[in-house]
Amino acid sequence: MNHYPQNRQFDICIRCQTVSKFNNEEKVFKCPHCDFSIKYAELESLLKVSFNSVYFGYQYREIYESVYENDEDIYIRFALEPVNELYYLIATSVISGIVGNLAYDFIKKIARNILKKEIQVYIKDEELVELLDDDEEFRKFYFYIFDYLNGLKNVKPKVKEAIEDEIRVDKSMESMDKKEENRP
Ligand SMILES: [Zn+2]
Repeated sequence: MNHYPQNRQFDICIRCQTVSKFNNEEKVFKCPHCDFSIKYAELESLLKVSFNSVYFGYQYREIYESVYENDEDIYIRFALEPVNELYYLIATSVISGIVGNLAYDFIKKIARNILKKEIQVYIKDEELVELLDDDEEFRKFYFYIFDYLNGLKNVKPKVKEAIEDEIRVDKSMESMDKKEENRP
């Protein structure tokens, strides 16, 4: 199985960034706040991009960068557990903001609002709170997401190589999943 979570609790509207409870009975997502609707299959593929931007562009990048900083090379590979889904909902909001050409401060404000709402009750994550409260950390998160979408242009070659290895592994796991599904 690849790392994209099979079950999620929340949806996010890509227009107004309202978070709502995931409803797996429906084929079409409809935002309870602004009435925007999109087929679940499409929303899912957007969320997958957000997930990957966090998992590879932020989580793996951080760890491989710190290894590289210490050793000036990377001889090891890690197997990271993905962070909770709020991270990639926030990444979705960051990506929507980037695509919509919004200013950084505005994007940060929206991202913070996501956490403030009722989801705080469901997923408690101190690191995530810190990420949103600490301006430097959020700027880094924003920049890493941005750079991931841009093809990891600001990553050192060795770090990039390690991240791309992880992406390859994940892709091959995904195609194995598909073969498994297609078996009669
Ligand atoms: Zn909406």
